[in-house]
Amino acid sequence: MSNIVDDRVEDYIRKTLNEKEGLLKELEDYAHEYKVPIIHKEISDLLKVLLKMNRPKRILEVGCAIGYSSIFFTTVLDGEVEVITCERNESMIEKARANIERAGFTDKITILEGDAEERLAEVQGEFDMIFIDAAKGQYKLFFDLVIDKLKSGGIVVSDNILYKGMVASDDFVIRRKKTIVKRMRNYLDFLCNNDELSTSLLPVGDGVAISYKE
Ligand code: SAH
Ligand code: MG
Repeated sequence: MSNIVDDRVEDYIRKTLNEKEGLLKELEDYAHEYKVPIIHKEISDLLKVLLKMNRPKRILEVGCAIGYSSIFFTTVLDGEVEVITCERNESMIEKARANIERAGFTDKITILEGDAEERLAEVQGEFDMIFIDAAKGQYKLFFDLVIDKLKSGGIVVSDNILYKGMVASDDFVIRRKKTIVKRMRNYLDFLCNNDELSTSLLPVGDGVAISYKE
C-alpha cells in the first residue's frame, strides 16, 4: 500500500506492466527481501519512456543504494550514457560495485563514495538529467548543489516526493516524520514556484516530481 493511489489501481498497473528479466529482476528480488528502497516499477517504466525520448548523455544521481536505478538507466540507454552516482552507506557501495561489475557497466557508472553534501560540489561538467533519490529531508540542499550542473533543456527527477502520502495529507503523517514532511512540502513549493523550471508532480510510485530546466 503506497497511500498514493487506490490499491486496486496500483495492483492493476503493477500486474499489467512487464516484469524485468535477468540481473534487474534479481536485484528487485534482493531489494524486496532486504527492504532496499529502489525505484518502484511504475517509476522505472515512466523513466524508461523519458530516457528514450531524451537520450541523456550524462546522468547525475543522488542515492545509489545497490545500483539498481543506475544499472536500469544504463540498460535502457544501451550503455550510451555516463552515470555518476553518490552513496554514503558502505555496505550499499560494496553491493553496488559488485552489481555494476556484473552488469558490465564499470566504465559507464561511477560511484562517488561519501555524503552527497560533500561529494556533489566537486562533480565536474554538465548533465542532461539529475535524479534525486536520497535522504528526503535534504532534497533542497541536493538541488542547490546540482542545479548549476544541469544543462538548460535538462530535467531533474525527484523521487518519493509524496512519501507514503504523508506529504499530501496530515492524516497519514506519523509524528517522527513531521520535519521531513515539512521540508518536502517546502521543496515542492520551491520547485513549483521557480521561474527557471517547469515542474510536474505525479502520484506515481511514491510520488515523483519532474522538472524541466528552461
Ligand atoms: N536510487 C536507488 C535507491 C536509492 S535509496 C534505486 O532506485 O535503485 C537511497 C540511498 O541514498 C540510500 O542507500 C542512502 O544510503 C543514500 N543516501 C541518503 N542520503 C544520502 C546522502 N546525504 N549522501 C549520500 N547518500 C545518501
Ligand atoms: Mg526512491
